[in-house]
Amino acid sequence: MPEKKDDDAWRLVYSKFDAKKEKHTESLTAIGNGFFVTRGAFEENALAKHHYPGTYAHCVYNTLSSKVGDKTVSNEDLVNLPNWLATRVLIDGKKLEFNEKTIEKYHKELNLKTGIFKKKITIKQNGKITEIFSERFVSMKRKDVAAINYAIVPINYDANIEILTGIDGEISNENVERYKELSKTHLEKHEVKNYPEDNTISLQTTTSQSRINILMYSKHVAFLDGKKMNMAREIVIENNKAIYHKININAKKKQKIEIKKIISLNISQSALSSNVEDVKKLNTDKFSYEKLKEEHEKEFSSYWQEADIEVEGDETIQRLIRLHSYHLFITASKNTIDLDTSVPARGLHGEAYRGHIFWDEVYIFPFYFLNFPEIARSLLMYRFKRLENARKYARENGYKGAMFPWQSGSTGKEETQSLHLNPLTGKWGKDLSRLQRHISIAVAYNFLRYTEHTNDIAFLKKHGAETIFEILRFFVSIAKLAENTCRYHITGVMGPNEFHETSMNENEKIPGLPDNAYTNFMVAWLMQKGVEILSQYDLNDIKKKLGITDEEIKEWINMSKRMYLPVNNNIIEQYANFFSLKKLDFEKYKIKYKNIGRLDRILRSEKKDPSDYQISKQADLLMIPYLLNEEEYQIVFKNLGYEFDLQKHYTEYEKRTSHGSTLSFVVHAYLANKLQNKDEKRMFQKSLLADYEDLQGGTTKEGIHTGLMAGTLRHVVECYAGLSFLNDKIALNPNLSNSNLTSIKFSFFFRKVKYVVCVSSKDIKISASKKVTALIYNEEVSLGSASKVFKKKEYKESK
Ligand code: BGC
Repeated sequence: MPEKKDDDAWRLVYSKFDAKKEKHTESLTAIGNGFFVTRGAFEENALAKHHYPGTYAHCVYNTLSSKVGDKTVSNEDLVNLPNWLATRVLIDGKKLEFNEKTIEKYHKELNLKTGIFKKKITIKQNGKITEIFSERFVSMKRKDVAAINYAIVPINYDANIEILTGIDGEISNENVERYKELSKTHLEKHEVKNYPEDNTISLQTTTSQSRINILMYSKHVAFLDGKKMNMAREIVIENNKAIYHKININAKKKQKIEIKKIISLNISQSALSSNVEDVKKLNTDKFSYEKLKEEHEKEFSSYWQEADIEVEGDETIQRLIRLHSYHLFITASKNTIDLDTSVPARGLHGEAYRGHIFWDEVYIFPFYFLNFPEIARSLLMYRFKRLENARKYARENGYKGAMFPWQSGSTGKEETQSLHLNPLTGKWGKDLSRLQRHISIAVAYNFLRYTEHTNDIAFLKKHGAETIFEILRFFVSIAKLAENTCRYHITGVMGPNEFHETSMNENEKIPGLPDNAYTNFMVAWLMQKGVEILSQYDLNDIKKKLGITDEEIKEWINMSKRMYLPVNNNIIEQYANFFSLKKLDFEKYKIKYKNIGRLDRILRSEKKDPSDYQISKQADLLMIPYLLNEEEYQIVFKNLGYEFDLQKHYTEYEKRTSHGSTLSFVVHAYLANKLQNKDEKRMFQKSLLADYEDLQGGTTKEGIHTGLMAGTLRHVVECYAGLSFLNDKIALNPNLSNSNLTSIKFSFFFRKVKYVVCVSSKDIKISASKKVTALIYNEEVSLGSASKVFKKKEYKESK
C-alpha cells in the first residue's frame, strides 16, 4: 500500500532507505516533461549496484552489434544520456558516501501535482553529521531545461567542504541485467567545455551509429546562508568525458551551502550549433531557479486541470491513479508533439524493451484521446511516418500492403530481437515474438478510434485512411482462402499470448500458429471498418492514390464475413487445436514457484516447451471484448457465423492464464467488471499495484509499464464512472457498487466538446462546452455549459 504522509494524495513518499528497493523507487519518482525523463536517483551515486541514474529522451536511439555465442546480433536501444545530476561531496578531502552504513535519515518524495522531486538525507560518517537537501524538476514549460537546488549543512562540525557538480558523460546502458552481455556503450566523441565568464560548462557527445548529437550545458549559482558566493571558479574534468564545477569552502557548523544548477539539453540529428547565448540567460534574474520552478509548476498544474480524476472513498485508488496519470504526463506531453515518437512500453524511465514502441498503444491512447487529442494525433503520426517502411517490411516478407513491426524504434523497421535470454537458465533462445502480426491491427484500430473520438476527418483523409487501407491489404495478402470451406485462414503468426511461438505441423514444430482467433476476428472487424469508412466519408482521393479496386473491396467484404475461427466444444480456441494441448496443473506450479507469471521461463528451465501446454501469458482472445464494445463484437461474430458468450470464455481462459504481462491484469479487471465478477477487485488491485509494488519482482526498476498505467485510468472512467460513446454521443451509466468509491470527478473531450463530470451513486453532475445531447442513465438529455444534475433515483421513480 502507498505510504501515508499527512493525508496528501499528491505525494509519493519514501522515508526508509532500502538499498534493494532504490532502483524501483527511482523509476517511480522519475521527473520529466514529455521530451526527456530523469530517474529519481541520488545525485551523489553514479551507477552502482543499487543506484541507476538514467536520463532518456524521445527519439534518441542507437544501434550496436553484439556477439552472442557464435552469432552477431544487433539491437537498437534508447540511449542513457549524460547524467546531469552528477554531484560529489568531499568533507576534509573525504568523499561523502551514501549507503546503508552512512544514511541516518532518509526522505525521498515526488510531488505529483508539481512534478518536483525532493530528497532530504542525513549522513553520519566518521562521527560527522551532514544534512543534504535537494529539489529538482524537468521543466514542463521549457522542454530543454531542468534544474536542481542542492544544499548541504554540516550539523556538528566545521570543515573544508568541496562540492563537485556537473555533467557526467561516461555513461552506458546498464539498467537491464539480462542485457549485460550485449554491447552497451552508445556515446562517443565527448567534448567538454568551460565558459568561465558565464559560470557555465558543457558536454557534447554523439551516439555512435545514429549520429545524434547531444549537448548539455550546466550553469550554477552558489550561496552561503542565503548569500550569493563569489568565489574562484575551479573546473574538474575527468577522462575528458565528465566536467564539474567545484565549490570549495571552509564551512562552519550549521552553515548552509546551496547550489542552484540549471541545465539545458539540446539534441539534434544535424550538427548542433552552440547555443551558449541562450544558456547565458539561465540562472540570471530573469531565469532564476525560483522563476523556472514557478513557471514549471504552473504549466504542470495545467495537465492536472485537463486530466485529473478525483475520486472519493478509496485513498489507494486516488493515490495510484494520480501516480499513473503523472507518469503518462511526463512520458508524452505537449512537448512531445512533433517529436516524431510515440509512447514506449516502458516509458522513458528505464531500458527494458530498449525503449521500443509496441501495440501497448491500444492501452495507452484512450487516455490521450480523452484528455489530449492533439497529443494523440502527434503520436499517431509516428506510425504514419513509418508507413513506407511498413510497406517495405511487408514486401520483404512476401506480402502486400503495410506490415508494421512488432517492436518499433527510430525508423519503423523491425526491432524485435531474434534471441532472448532466459534469466532462469542463463541460456539464449530464439525469440519469435515478431510474428505478432496483430500489431498492424492495433495501428489501424488506433487510427479508427481516434477518428471516431475526435471526428477529425481531415486527419483521416490525410493520414489515417491510407494507413488503414494498406494494413487491410497486408491482411488480405497474408490470409488464404480454403476452397472447400470458403473460409479465410491465417497461419504462421502469433497472438498476444507470447508463450506460444510455435505449433505442430505433421511431426515438426514450425514458427507461428494456425488461425489465432484474436487476429482472425480482428481482421474481420477491420475489413468491415475499412468498407464502412469508404462509404461513410469521401475518401476518393486516397482510393485513387492507392488504386483500390472494386475487386479488392469485394474481398474485404468477403473477409469480414468469412474469416475462420477455430471452435472446440462451443469455445472459440485461442488458435487451432489449442485445447488439444497438454493441461498444466497451475496449483502445483504456484506451490513450487510462487510467482508463476513467467511460466514460459519456468517451463523452459524444466526443459519443457511452453507451446505444448494450454497456458496463456495474458489476454489473447479476450482482447476482443476489451477493444470492442459488446454490440460491435457481437455483430462481427454474427456476421462470421459464430457465437460468443463472454462469461464462458472468460472462465475458460482466465484459469489458463498466468498474467505474466501487466497488461493482463488490466484486461481481466475490465472484463470481470463487465461480467460483475468477483475477480474484478483482485485484478484491478493488481493493476493498480503492479508498478507501485513491483508485483513482477524486478521489472519496474527497468521502466514503468505505460499500458498498465493508462489501463487503470480507463478502468475508473469506463467501469466505475460508466462512460461510453455511442456514435456521436457520450453515455454515462455509473456503477460504483464494485468499488469503495463514492464519487468520481473528471473531465474529457469528445468530438471537440469538453465535458466536466461528477458521478456518485446517486446522481450525475455534468456540463458540456457546447450544446449537445447525451445519454445519461440511458435517457437522451441535452447538455450545455451550465452544469446539470441528473438523479438516479428520480429517473428510476419516474419510469
Ligand atoms: C507483453 C506484450 C507487450 C510487451 C511490452 C510483453 O510482456 O507480452 O504484450 O506488448 O510486454 O509491454
